[in-house]
Amino acid sequence: MDNAKFTKQQIEELKKLCGESGIKLTHQRLEIFKELMAVSNHPSAELIYKRLRRKLPTVALDTVYRTLATFDELGLVKKLHLMNERTLFDTNLKVHHHFICNHCRKVEDIYWQRFDSCKLPEGIGEVGMIESRHLEFHGVCRNCLNIGRKDKQ
Ligand SMILES: [Zn+2]
Ligand SMILES: [Zn+2]
Repeated sequence: MDNAKFTKQQIEELKKLCGESGIKLTHQRLEIFKELMAVSNHPSAELIYKRLRRKLPTVALDTVYRTLATFDELGLVKKLHLMNERTLFDTNLKVHHHFICNHCRKVEDIYWQRFDSCKLPEGIGEVGMIESRHLEFHGVCRNCLNIGRKDKQ
């Protein structure tokens, strides 16, 4: 386990948060959390479920989904609703944006501090109160460019 040390601290954090929020840290929840931290960023509930079933064959997809939603409420992950994508969960809690590959659907993090701190357009208050801003970039990722695929899979 390469990331055992890495997750130990995060598990402590999880325990603390659950305790503060009155949420019981069940074995299933803990395993879901570990899986979440072990996968690459932006996993779907289905991916976590598939990986988890090797260890916990009785786990239900619905349980995984609800647990991830709880983690979202606790601020441990961020639920992502990217255009044309099913719900993904982001373990990167820093302010960032997303690039989505049109070919392989890979989601990459994009940082753009100048955008994050730039002044909002004049009169934007007309539409309502802005609470956050998030950019979605669509294109072809470096890997797909290298492979030279031109058509959608
Ligand atoms: Zn790609
Ligand atoms: Zn992200």
